[in-house]
Amino acid sequence: MKEIKNAAEKYQNIGIVGCASCASICLTGGSMQVKEMEQSLKEAGKNITFTISIDEPCDMRILKEDIRFVEDELKNTDAVVVLSCGTGVQTIGEFTGKKVIAGTDSKYIAKTEHIGEYSPLCRGCDECRLNFTGGVCTITLCPKGLLNGPCEGHNGIKCEVYETSDCIFMTSYMNMKNFGEEENINRIFSPRDYSIKSIKKNI
Ligand code: SF4
Ligand code: SF4
Repeated sequence: MKEIKNAAEKYQNIGIVGCASCASICLTGGSMQVKEMEQSLKEAGKNITFTISIDEPCDMRILKEDIRFVEDELKNTDAVVVLSCGTGVQTIGEFTGKKVIAGTDSKYIAKTEHIGEYSPLCRGCDECRLNFTGGVCTITLCPKGLLNGPCEGHNGIKCEVYETSDCIFMTSYMNMKNFGEEENINRIFSPRDYSIKSIKKNI
């Protein structure tokens, strides 16, 4: 809240958008969290112009339809606090032309175990290496984010950082062995390509 209030400091009339999809399931941007945000910002002396939950604020087709419900209120809004992942925040900013304030910290792309329990499996690195790693993402699952590993600290099968977990490179190797792909252990991956050529690929 402190970060959000700092970001909203210059703005008096605030709208709040929740995400009824992923952020709602994660309990970071559902209707309850929108209400809590409204309460906190009111206590901070802000005027709340509207609150709305949009099914998927990252989807332009849905955003265009749903944002019409607060079209008039938006005109009198200085900034919009968005309780969604960074994609939703930016999509709303681009579409409305308003100052947007990110209300959550997006961590990773995850598997849902149960509501409120998520396992990070991907960082969206744009150069997927799963075909050569036994189907596990080492850069996401190794606490040091190693592309080539293991580090020198691994204790046999266990990770030196999380002693109760297996080193992900060991899991990777066991999977490769299981699939008859052990030769992949010799592959050294290059660091991610951040060149203009690589960025253009996505435009
Ligand atoms: S290598 Fe890992 S972070 Fe990159 S796309 Fe594949 S699963 Fe995602
Ligand atoms: S032991 Fe394995 S998983 Fe743990 S930090 Fe080292 S390389 Fe990463």
